[in-house]
Amino acid sequence: MKVCKFGGTSVASAEQIKKVANIVKEDPERRFVVVSAPGKRSADDIKVTDLLIDLAQTVSAGQSYEEKIRNVVNRYEDNAKGLGLSHEICDVIEADLRRRCEEDAAVSAQYAMDSLKASGEDNNAKMIAAYFNHIGIRAKYVNPKDGLLVCQPPERTMALPEAYEKLSYLKNSEEIIVFPGFFGYTTEGVLRTFDRGGSDITGAILAAAVQADLYENFTDVDCVFSANPKVVNEPAEITEITYREMRELSYAGFSVFHDEALMPVFKLKIPVTIKNTNNPSAPGTKIVAESTEKRRPVTGISADSGFSILYVSKYLMNREIGFGRKLLQILEEDGISYEHTPSGLDDISVIIRSHQLTEENERRILQRVTEELHADDVHFRHGFSLIVVVGEGMNNNTGLAAKAASAISETGANIEMINQGSSEVSLAFGVQQQYEDVILKSLYNAFFQPAHSL
Ligand code: ASP
Repeated sequence: MKVCKFGGTSVASAEQIKKVANIVKEDPERRFVVVSAPGKRSADDIKVTDLLIDLAQTVSAGQSYEEKIRNVVNRYEDNAKGLGLSHEICDVIEADLRRRCEEDAAVSAQYAMDSLKASGEDNNAKMIAAYFNHIGIRAKYVNPKDGLLVCQPPERTMALPEAYEKLSYLKNSEEIIVFPGFFGYTTEGVLRTFDRGGSDITGAILAAAVQADLYENFTDVDCVFSANPKVVNEPAEITEITYREMRELSYAGFSVFHDEALMPVFKLKIPVTIKNTNNPSAPGTKIVAESTEKRRPVTGISADSGFSILYVSKYLMNREIGFGRKLLQILEEDGISYEHTPSGLDDISVIIRSHQLTEENERRILQRVTEELHADDVHFRHGFSLIVVVGEGMNNNTGLAAKAASAISETGANIEMINQGSSEVSLAFGVQQQYEDVILKSLYNAFFQPAHSL
């Protein structure tokens, strides 16, 4: 039994949805289909989710939203027409959108935003189920209200443990289940969306709930590459990767698969394959618990920008019990999460995603660290990238850190931070953002070009 998730580009147009139907028809084990909202049909197109975010903002600002609602409905109308469906499904979708703009917007701006964002996948699932039935594939649209329970705010949206049990009844369905990605409901029945790209998470939850043999994640690339193909020329294709490696790579820049989507399947050791809707016969990349093939020590190198460093120094910091906790508590009280905390004897750096910082909270943090922790020096620095070298084979391979550091120094960039997690599956370097691409190329050459490989 397989759960298949189709991303935005795979369901962007009638032509793409026909490919999805063929993929589902081809393999009787494909019993569950999780769909995203229609994505981009071309590079300069706009995702339906982005149209919906704009619509929600317009509704909450009390402005006229007629044209914006039309833009969304038009996308579904085009698809319905191309799929040979009657206008009835578009009427259902339009009525649903208008209800959300009126009733849900009356609850709160946040609720209008969540509800309208979720409508992208919800209405697409209704349309795709209708199309499947129209061409003779017995299918049923299921709303996440029937079991996909998520936690309450202010926590980030995550599935509750009981969601898996609640959804497990779906495995007995005679029809193919078409399930919208991206959202669930609290126990009080309040709709909440996952983070952007969160349909991958829904697919993983469903795969775990029905204990699927495989979770197939269909996207628009043949496989996961060992480095960003927009920066590195023809990077090596990854045929197999472990959950831990994939988690590390998706954390810092590999956008093919959401990093939170691995947890549900990882627990049950359900393998995942990343496949291409436009080329479904390509084997894709398999994500597994343990690697079965002999591989080089480094599997992939990722790079992501948008990091800041909070630098704090205080003489004899290492002797002061509770210093680290108090520092992190100051960040916690401002609702800020941190990524890494490399430290020396008398100093500590806290690596933070910059989008969480504002002039105001920076000022507050600096003042509190100075006054409450009596730091000698405290300041923020911005404009950093993290480059992460990932591979299960790294933990018993000497010389890798030296090799990486020398590849970085060849570019003339300064390494601002090095962090190796205790699992030794990754090695992270903090560098100034402007060096990101050149460092990625240099590291790729060092670890992947045959002449250099360890
Ligand atoms: N449609 C949502 C987004 O654009 C979720 C998804 O596609 O996974 O982020």
